[in-house]
Formats: sequence, C-alpha cells, structure tokens
Amino acid sequence: MSAESALTLSFPEPDIAVLTFDLPGKGANVLARAVLVEFESHLSTLVKRGGVAGLVIRSGKPGMFIAGADIREFVASFDVPKSEVIAFAEHGRKLFARLTELPFVSVAAIDGVCLGGGAEWALWCDRRLMGSNPKLQFGLPEVKLGLYPGWGGTVRLPRIVGLGNAVEMITSGESIAQREAVAMGLASTVVPSEMLDAAAIQLIRAEQQSRQYLADRQRWSQPIGMSETELMFLGATASAYIQQQTKGQYPAPVAALELLLETSQLDAATAGEREAASFIDLFASPINRSLINVFFLGDRNKKDPGIVADGVTPRPIRSVGVVGAGIMGAGIAAASVRRELSVTITDSAPGSLALGVQKILDEVSYNKATKGPDVKRMSQFAPLVRATTVDGEFASVDLVIEAVVENIDVKKALYARLEPQLRDDCLLASNTSAISITRLAEGLKHPERFVGIHFFNPVRQMPLVEVIRGARTSDETVATAVGYAKALGKSPIVVEDGPGFLVNRLLLPYMNEALELLAEGQTIEQVEKASKSFGMPMGPITLFDVVGLDTALFAGHVMHEAFPERIVESPMLAALVQAGRKGQKSGAGFFKYGSGKKDKQRGASDPDLLPLLQPYLRGGPKLSEKQIVDRLFLPMLCEATRILEERKVRDARDVDLGLIYGIGFPPFKGGLLFWADTIGAAKIVERLQPWLPLGPRFEPTSMLREMARTGKKFYD
Ligand code: NAD
Repeated sequence: MSAESALTLSFPEPDIAVLTFDLPGKGANVLARAVLVEFESHLSTLVKRGGVAGLVIRSGKPGMFIAGADIREFVASFDVPKSEVIAFAEHGRKLFARLTELPFVSVAAIDGVCLGGGAEWALWCDRRLMGSNPKLQFGLPEVKLGLYPGWGGTVRLPRIVGLGNAVEMITSGESIAQREAVAMGLASTVVPSEMLDAAAIQLIRAEQQSRQYLADRQRWSQPIGMSETELMFLGATASAYIQQQTKGQYPAPVAALELLLETSQLDAATAGEREAASFIDLFASPINRSLINVFFLGDRNKKDPGIVADGVTPRPIRSVGVVGAGIMGAGIAAASVRRELSVTITDSAPGSLALGVQKILDEVSYNKATKGPDVKRMSQFAPLVRATTVDGEFASVDLVIEAVVENIDVKKALYARLEPQLRDDCLLASNTSAISITRLAEGLKHPERFVGIHFFNPVRQMPLVEVIRGARTSDETVATAVGYAKALGKSPIVVEDGPGFLVNRLLLPYMNEALELLAEGQTIEQVEKASKSFGMPMGPITLFDVVGLDTALFAGHVMHEAFPERIVESPMLAALVQAGRKGQKSGAGFFKYGSGKKDKQRGASDPDLLPLLQPYLRGGPKLSEKQIVDRLFLPMLCEATRILEERKVRDARDVDLGLIYGIGFPPFKGGLLFWADTIGAAKIVERLQPWLPLGPRFEPTSMLREMARTGKKFYD
C-alpha cells in the first residue's frame, strides 16, 4: 500500500476480504479516478487469490461512507470530447458491475453519508447493510447538479427497490435514511454502528449458505416486469409532479424519468449502455455548469472563515441572549436552541415575550413525521430557553442579538442600557435590516465587539445570514459571528457596512424597476411572468406583498437617501400603504388575500386597485418579455458591479451565493454574475444601451466597461 492509497485491503478472517475507503487527509471520501484505479487492482488481486467467501466495502471515516464522485474532475472534463465522457461513464459502470460477476458475495457496509457515485458503488454490491449512525443518508442527488446517475444508478436502483421508488429517488435527488432503505429492500437490515463490521461478515456467511445473492444477481440483470398500463400511469403521475416542482426549468429530472421508463424494459447490460449514451446530453450543458457552480459556491462558503487575516480564532458561542421576541427574535432563538445553545430571551412587552417563548417551543419541538409537537424534543429543548425581564440575566451569555423594532434611537438606547451588564468578552449583534452598523456602534464602549448578524425571514427556512462588519468591528468578532451562523447550519457571508448591505441593495433596484414598468404601462401579469420565466420563485409584485409594502417603502426610502440618483421611489407604494394595503399581512397589497391561496386575486381584475395606481400610470410602449427581463435584472447587475468596485464583499461568489440563498435567484442560472458571464460584459453593455435615457441606474459601471473591453469575466 502506498502512502497515498485511499483503499486498504485486509483479511479479518482468511476468507473474508475487507476494503476500507479512507481518502488520506480529507474529511470526505470522494470517488476520484485514482480511487477507481485502486479498486480495479484490488478486484483483480481478489479474483486471483481464490478462496474468498465474501468482500465487505466499508469506510474508515466515521459518519461518512462516500460523498460522491469528484466534482472537480467533472468540471475538468467539461470540454473534453463527448466520446471520452461516455467512455469514462462506461468504464465506471463496468468496473462496478464486476462486483456482480465475482465468485463470492459483496456487501456494502454503510454507516454515514452515501451519495451519488458512492451510492452507485454500493448499489452494485450484492447486499447493503446499514449502521445506526444518524448522519447516514443514501441518495442519488445528481439531478441537483443537472445530471442523472451515470455509473449504473438508473439500472440498479429500480431493479432493487422497484421502479416507483427509484423514479422518486432519482428524479427528486432526495436522500433516504435507514428505515426507508430497509422498507424498500435497499438495505438488508440496520445494526448498531459498532456491530456493523461483524454483521457484514455474518451476512456473508448467511449468503454463502442460502446462495440467495446468486438468484438476485440473475433477477437484477433482467428487465423489470411491469405492464404497459402500469408504466404509463407511473410516467404520467411522475411527470406531472416533476413539472410542478421544476416549472419546466430543470431538464434532468424529466430526462431521468424518460430514461428509467425506457430502460426498465431492457436487460441491465443494455440499460447501462443507454444510460451512458444519454448521460452526455446533460453533461456540460449550461444548466449542468450553472448548478455545479452553485455546488461550488456552497462548498466554498462552508470553508470560508469570513476573514482574510490569519491567526484569528473565532470564540465558541455556547449561550445566546436575544432581545426582542417578535418574528425575528423568536426565529433566531429557536434556531439557536435547535443547535443546543442555551438562550436567554427578553422583550419590553410581556405579552410578546410570552408569545415569543411559545413560538420557540412550538418550533423546536415540532416533529416532521407526526406534524405536531414531540414530547421528547420538548423536554430536551425546553430547559435551554429562559425568558427574563431582567437585563442582569444577560451577564453570563457569550453573544447578545438584538431584534427589536427597526428604530435607531430605540436600538441605541437599548445598547446603552445593556452594554454595561455584559461580560467583557460578550459580543453584541444587531439583526437590523437597514440601519448602518457603524452608526449603531457609535457611543458603544466596545464597538470592536459589535457586529450585524442579519438573518432572513423566516429564519427556519432561509439559509442566508449576512454578517455585517462595521467600521470598528474586529476580525475576531466577525469570525465569531460567522462561526455562530455556521453552527446554526446557516450560510453566512461577510459584508462591509453600507446601505442595504448586500442582498437588499441588490433587491431594491429590481423591485423598484418592477413598479417603474407598471408606471410605463406594462401589466402586473407581464412583469410577474417575465420574472418567473427568468426563474425567480415569485414575481416582484408578489414579493412586495410578501415583504410588506410598508417595509418595502421604508427600505426603499433608506436606499433612495443613499443613492438618490439610482433608486427611484415609486409613489405607488405610498399610495397603497395609505389606503391600508400593506400586503399579505393586511389582507391586500397589489393582490387581495382571503383565507386561502386561491383567494389571491390578479391585480388587473381587482376593481379597487386600479384607481389607486391610476394617477401614477404614465404609459409607454409595450415591451417584450426579454426587454422586461433586461429592465428587471440589468440594474441589479450594475449595482452588483458597484458593490464589487466598492469591495463590499471579498469575492464575486459572495454576491451569487447571497442572491441564490437570500432571494431565490434561480440556481439553474448559476448566480447573477455567473449568468452575466454566460452573456459576456460586452453584450451586457450593449443591452444596457437602449435604457440609458431612463437614468444612471442603467449606466454601465467602469468595471463593466473595462470587462467589456478586455473580455474579462467575473469568474476568471
Ligand atoms: P417584531 O415587531 O416582530 O418584533 C420586535 C419585538 O421587539 C417586539 O416584540 C417588541 O415588543 C420588541 N421590542 C421593541 N422595543 C424593545 C425594547 N426596547 N426592548 C426589548 N424589546 C423591544 O419585529 P421583527 O420583524 O422581528 O424585526 C426585528 C428586527 O429584525 C428589526 O430590526 C428588523 O428590521 C429586523 N429584520 C426583520 C425581518 C423581517 O422580515 N421581519 C427580516 C430581517 C431583519
């Protein structure tokens, strides 16, 4: 064995071979080409050796079987000839398929993450055995990268678990845990982690006796027996579901479904050939490239400590104080408690405090399976929550997050009162969505320990957190805030202080432009449709209603004060707020809301809306969908380049991650700047040209002009 080997072959008993996968120096086992080469050589050794009763494939990393194929190798193959990619897929599948020809039984002993190529490897084994590790997840998430499994996953899975289950797993890309795996026949059984190795040997002995694995090999090499009617029914229901989930914007699940239906009627060898041949249609496509970029954005974020300086250690956060038990405070507290941090929470209104605590407990004790509160979870988490009305109780916490009303005077008065009560090394953070962190820190004794930690609403669902560095915030404070957000399972990006921070600074130009388009005579339906066709989860007009028109009005005002030449304040918003139409929360905004979603009325058909908007409709030429898309997204893009010019974030990737995680910018476009790269700066400057008369918000920045001149890209 060389020092760099990922696979180690051992013989705990003379006739039992164990192949342990432990990629040196890495936290995860990844299936790179080199590992496949090692596997091939071990297989040959075993076959030559003779006298083997069984092979166990296991991992040397706790909680991790195999994370998947090496995605960096994928990217390196994007531009190689198609025939090479097909050959590589063929090679991997045929290599794994050798497991089904061995003169002995093979068992994958899985006790952790088992995904993608790793799951395919396990599927080619005769048997899969699972340990009890709670980190265990088994899945084929390739569709999330715009692909489908290419090493025989679409062949083996349906033959082992049935076509219906396979269609669901492969087209959704979602993973399953032990219980489901056993229920669908994917895994033989589940044993306590520490007994997995012994159980694998026992299973080999049992199979040696029963020889059932040989019968299964035979069965799984055949077509799947299903009638045409059954196939048609499955195809129709699955494709309707996929269409609803993907809105037709992600081709991989549809392609996977078609492949699965077709190859279910073929023998396994031919099905494998079809898989490899059609895999290439998705590989290296624009959507595949975009989704892989999103994967890398997330991966980079996980490793990013948030600061450039070396030698700064984030402080551990074990206890959190939350001031303000409203929507955000309760959400932040619940997220912290769920990660077993102790939380002390207060609110100036006793009623809000009681309500907030109830919301926290409801949230942390919620059991997805039973769709209700779980007594066990409640007794585990409830002791971590302490409600108080006494400032002194914050003296012991590591971090205090303020989430009181968005008013600078209220916030500053609170800090003045609270800061002297806090421990010397306690961090103070604000969840403000718009107020300058530098201004909030004025008057603090320790501005270096003050930082913005901006969660998004609803905290439970939104992965993004902006960590905002004020002029005097220290590196240690930033790194600690980043560490805290990650401990909650969030994706923090560090942003220098400034109006709208990152996400709102980019969102506002887009939302405002939607109102300008209405003023120029485009209909609500047209604007919504253009945005949704582009891939946004909801149109900008609906977004106004969701955010709240009063909140949007306030945020727009803050942004207008900062950038009066670029941020247009539409009088429509004020008029609707004045009329009591504040959005979903008040029952009406641009749309009207009843008790159910179905009651949402289209704006144009609401007789009460038009008179309110009428005074502000200037009219203008009808625009095409492409023109509306440019109007909505090009100002956002220009603003992003200003953010980069001003070095508000350290990397273009932060902009893309922030928009995907913060506002649902379409992942299949890879991010705003990734999308811009696919168009090219020169073309973008050209597309801005017709809109220049509308004002400086359409003015190409010097960065864009320079990029247009040199051909440079954001992702160079
Ligand atoms: P909220 O109105 O739901 O809650 C605010 C709570 O603070 C109320 O319960 C109120 O009683 C309490 N409070 C007011 N003054 C107080 C004081 N001096 N001491 C203690 N408690 C006090 O508001 P929210 O939506 O949770 O927003 C809180 C903060 O989070 C604001 O700064 C807001 O801008 C920011 N924020 C809100 C959202 C959002 O979508 N709601 C998103 C991100 C950030």
